Amino acid sequence: MVNIEGKVALVTGGSKGIGASICKVLASEGVKVVINYNSSKESAQSLVDEIKNNGGEADLFQCDVSEIEEAKVLVENTINKYGRLDFLINNAGITRDRSFRKLLHEDWNKVIAVNLSSVYNTTNSALPHLLNSECGRIINISSIIGQSGGFGQTNYAAAKAGIIGFTKSLALELAKTGVTVNSICPGFIETKMVLDIPEEIRDQIKNKIPQKRFGKPEEIAKGVLYLIKDGDYITGQQLNINGGLYM
Ligand code: NAP
Repeated sequence: MVNIEGKVALVTGGSKGIGASICKVLASEGVKVVINYNSSKESAQSLVDEIKNNGGEADLFQCDVSEIEEAKVLVENTINKYGRLDFLINNAGITRDRSFRKLLHEDWNKVIAVNLSSVYNTTNSALPHLLNSECGRIINISSIIGQSGGFGQTNYAAAKAGIIGFTKSLALELAKTGVTVNSICPGFIETKMVLDIPEEIRDQIKNKIPQKRFGKPEEIAKGVLYLIKDGDYITGQQLNINGGLYM
C-alpha cells in the first residue's frame, strides 16, 4: 500500500460532480489537491475552502484542458506551487448529444477536444514529473458509453473509447517505470451530466440498471483512491463502476 500523505494530485474538471468528489476523498487522505476548473470558479473556490476547513490542502487553477498551451501552464502552476506531481486524474468532460445525422461538426470537434485531446494535453506536460514520483499514477475517467456505445452519442462514445485505447497503450509503454495508467468507466452517476437527461429517459435508464439506482460521485472517487493506494500491480485496466449495467 502506497503512503499518499503529502503527495500531490491534479484533478481536471475538479470543480463539480465526480471531479469534486475525487478532490474531497484524496484531500481527506492527506493528498495536496490541485483543482482545475474551466468556468465554475465559485464552485472550485468553495471546494478549496471546504477542504481547507477540514484540515486539507488544496488550490485552484483555471484552465481549458482542451487547449495544449493552457494545459502546459496548468502543470507548470502545479509544480510551482507544490514542487511535485504524483497523481494525474483526467476527469474533465462534456456531452453534446445528438443523433449522428443532426450532429454538427463543431459538436464532434468540441467533445473530442475536451474529453480526449485533453488527456493527451495534460499527460504530455505531466509525465516528466510523474516519472520522478515513486508512485506515479494516471487515472483517466472514461465511461460505460465508451464500452457499450450510446444513442445520440457518437462523439462522446468515440472520445471515451479513445481514452481506453490511449490508457492501454501508455500503460504498456510505462509499465517498466512504475507509473501505472488506468481508466475508470462509470455507469450513470448522479451529477449534472445525468440530471440533464430528460426525466422520462432517466427513469428508463434506471430501470435497466441491475442494481436499480444511479451511482454516487463518491463511489467513483473511492475507485480512484483504490487505484492510487493499492494499485501498484494494476495497469492498463478499466475499472467498471456501473451497478452491473455493463459486464
Ligand atoms: P459535470 O458535473 O458536468 O462536471 C464536469 C467537469 O468538467 C466540471 O468540473 C467542468 O468544469 C469540467 N470541464 C468541462 N470542460 C472543461 C474544460 N474544457 N477544461 C477543464 N475542465 C472542464 O460532469 P461529471 O458527471 O462530474 O463528469 C465527470 C467525468 O466523468 C466526465 O469525464 C464524464 O464524461 C465522466 N462520466 C460521467 C458519468 C455520469 O454519469 N455523470 C458517467 C460516465 C462518465 P467547469 O464547470 O469549471 O467548466
